[in-house]
Amino acid sequence: MPKLPSVAQKLRQYRALVPPRFANRSFIKTKRLAKHSPAVTLAIAEVSCRFCCTPAKETTVSTDHSTQLQDETYPSTRKQQTVAGPVRFSGRSLFMGYETTVTLLPADSNTGIIFRRVDLTNAPDIPATVEFIAKVPRRTALAVTEDVRVETVEHLMAALCGLQVDNCIVEINAPELPAYDGSCRDFCDGILQAGLVQLDADAISISIGGTTNVRSDDGKQTLLLRPYAQRCAAITYQLYYGRNAVVTPQIYSAEITPKIFYEEVSAARTFVLQSEIKALKAMGYGRHLTSKDIVIVGDDGVIDNALRYPDEAARHKLLDCVGDLALSGTPFVGHVTACRSGHHLNHELARVLTNLKQATELRNAA
Ligand SMILES: [Zn+2]
Repeated sequence: MPKLPSVAQKLRQYRALVPPRFANRSFIKTKRLAKHSPAVTLAIAEVSCRFCCTPAKETTVSTDHSTQLQDETYPSTRKQQTVAGPVRFSGRSLFMGYETTVTLLPADSNTGIIFRRVDLTNAPDIPATVEFIAKVPRRTALAVTEDVRVETVEHLMAALCGLQVDNCIVEINAPELPAYDGSCRDFCDGILQAGLVQLDADAISISIGGTTNVRSDDGKQTLLLRPYAQRCAAITYQLYYGRNAVVTPQIYSAEITPKIFYEEVSAARTFVLQSEIKALKAMGYGRHLTSKDIVIVGDDGVIDNALRYPDEAARHKLLDCVGDLALSGTPFVGHVTACRSGHHLNHELARVLTNLKQATELRNAA
């Protein structure tokens, strides 16, 4: 029987997977990470990541906005931004199959992101903040009342946050966002084609000074938030469904700058396990979808589709994290290590960030 690697060997393997840009920085305290995330030590020997794998297939999305996204990675300050003009999206929604049209409209400084249900009487607003999170399975929903709600907001929120759109009115004529290919690349392309404009107010980031974490009741999912040496947020996502799961253990890290987000994260699509589909359809979800429309992972791999990256699932979970944490309503400078987290735990960390923001504002006002 082969000898199992020691914890020290596993930690060395984990360190080897850390992005080069993160290497030799003191914030990567792998021993602490392993202590907080027991699944990591199990997964370490078999994780795949963008630093040790080559893409299985080039992304099929060809639009190139790289000239608009020059690498101004760590500005000491920046101004708030909004879209330069209306941006329209339309398509069927992911879970319920609504034919939805969305229009992004410019908004003033300090407006934040506000959804507006233009199909309802008086076109009520739904602010994209933690106060309005509604608990639904497998997606992020916002609701003011039972009827005034909007669902599956996380991919558009990720596109807005990733591209640093701080203020925007999102007019929508249905209760759920268009799905497109399950990534947020189409949202990003539309926003970049319209362009961004700077507003007068500064975009104030909260800087994480200490370590905090949130975890699920059973302790299997964790989110650890720590200080980060650069002037941006960074997220490491550790995906672990089990040693022999059909979605293999994966780890992916990225600094969330517009250029990195657009080029390396935005095209990663959502996925579903074949074993889950029957139950989802019984709940009325995704009845309009085929294996061509969404990445379905069966026992023998992806069905009727090809992955854009070997670690596309981890990249997408990171994308979801970006969108969910954007509900804190504030940019932050810190490093999030997400272990197996989903939307609900992401929301808990967004609440922590909101509280930190409010505490900072109170301190500054005193
Ligand atoms: Zn998602």
